[in-house]
Amino acid sequence: MSRIIVAGAGHGGLTAAFNLAKAGHSVTVYEKQSYETVGHDWHDGLWLRDFDLVNMPRPDASLLTPNKDMRFFNPKKTVSLELNFPESSNSVFIDRRKLVQFLLDQCVSAGVKVCCETEALCAVCGPDRIRGIKIKTKDGAEKTVFGDLVIDAAGASSPVRRSLPGRFGIQNEIPAKDMFFVYRAYYEKTDTEKLDPRYSVYFFHCGHAGMDWMITEEDYMDVLVGKFGGITQEEIEESLADFREEYPCLGSAVKRGGYVSKIPLTRTLPCIVANGYAAVGDSAGMTVPLNGCGIDLSLQAGGTLALIAESVKDGNYTKEKLWPYQQRYCVLHGNRLVIIAKLRAFLASLKAHNVDFLMESGILSQTEIGMANGNMSAVSFGYVMKKLRAILPQSYLIPAAIGAMRGIRNLKKITTRMPAVYDEAKIRSWLKIYNGI
Ligand SMILES: Cc1cc2nc3c(=O)[nH]c(=O)nc-3n(C[C@H](O)[C@H](O)[C@H](O)COP(=O)(O)OP(=O)(O)OC[C@H]3O[C@@H](n4cnc5c(N)ncnc54)[C@H](O)[C@@H]3O)c2cc1C
Repeated sequence: MSRIIVAGAGHGGLTAAFNLAKAGHSVTVYEKQSYETVGHDWHDGLWLRDFDLVNMPRPDASLLTPNKDMRFFNPKKTVSLELNFPESSNSVFIDRRKLVQFLLDQCVSAGVKVCCETEALCAVCGPDRIRGIKIKTKDGAEKTVFGDLVIDAAGASSPVRRSLPGRFGIQNEIPAKDMFFVYRAYYEKTDTEKLDPRYSVYFFHCGHAGMDWMITEEDYMDVLVGKFGGITQEEIEESLADFREEYPCLGSAVKRGGYVSKIPLTRTLPCIVANGYAAVGDSAGMTVPLNGCGIDLSLQAGGTLALIAESVKDGNYTKEKLWPYQQRYCVLHGNRLVIIAKLRAFLASLKAHNVDFLMESGILSQTEIGMANGNMSAVSFGYVMKKLRAILPQSYLIPAAIGAMRGIRNLKKITTRMPAVYDEAKIRSWLKIYNGI
């Protein structure tokens, strides 16, 4: 039986905790929020099939509503593109707090010890392995807890990942340019007129690089203001003012949420395992870098991590033994999402009028909207060249497009050259390709 520490009640960490506890390991989760307040204060979308994939029961149907169709507007609002979820698609909306509480309940019933209101402060390291974490309990006491494996599920700004010494080869910081800064709030609805309940997503709303949305619910208005690289109060106010003109029923009282959080819009971090350590979820940069969805990737990664950790029978979780976790995740998801990260970097470098051109001319079309949802079947070298040629009429966009696409011809190599078995030299040469894309 191994001692497993999970830092943060992230979705992937809880999935791994659940499966490892069921396999007989001693697992403890340290979460800084209370049991009642853990999880975001709003609803989001996820795929139900993920629970089946990770051997977890599905949340009760009473917690779920069908996901909403989406439409995407250019900054001038002259074009709208649709993304529809058929009812049979398994894509659902859930209250984020209820989701995390559901995952915590599953963990507790599997024998996981959950310590809420306990903050992970940093990693505790020996010369060649991570040995545990330092925690701060509810009463302010600081102490060190030791484990055979530390699973880092403390989100994009995880203090555990950020405190790791360079010798472990883990990227400490996710740069602000690769972060999406998001203000989200449910506002009161001042009349009961039922409006279109689809997500209305606005690219570069009010001219700022990013993506805002408005969802008109029965009794509240779900507002998101998201900007690449940073967000200011003025930008939030400007977006709200524009929404108020378009949606007169948008009130001013905040019913839920009302705070700014960060989503990593990056490729998976180059290295997510070390001796005694594995990162999962946002802490490892596991999102679709265009739309910021990360719940299903985290759940699936947590399931894979548990599977690999379970195969380590001697409790010695070396980077060699944990490597298949990173390899499997990258082959399944991480490697193909590199191209989405490139596309996102290209979009973030644009101005609002460029986005108008791309959408009005059809270069950014239904196909790319589908890609934002993970449908990558259309992407090929020929596809990218066709898009680049279409940009020619706005030739000043070409350097940005070429810059963003640099290295993309190596895309196939990052999957074919990724070693399935840990080999220092082969991993170094794989990292060169991965980091060069
Ligand atoms: C506005 C918004 C909308 C989103 N919409 C979607 C969506 O529709 N679909 C989707 O798939 N994804 C969505 N995401 C992304 C999604 O939230 C994340 O990708 C997903 O939650 C996976 O992250 P995680 O579980 O690894 O980390 P998190 O959800 O960030 O969880 C980390 C946990 O660690 C805890 N923690 C942090 N620091 C410490 C510490 N020092 N000590 C102890 N505990 C700590 C936190 O309290 C938290 O409970 C959205 C994100 C935002 C902000």
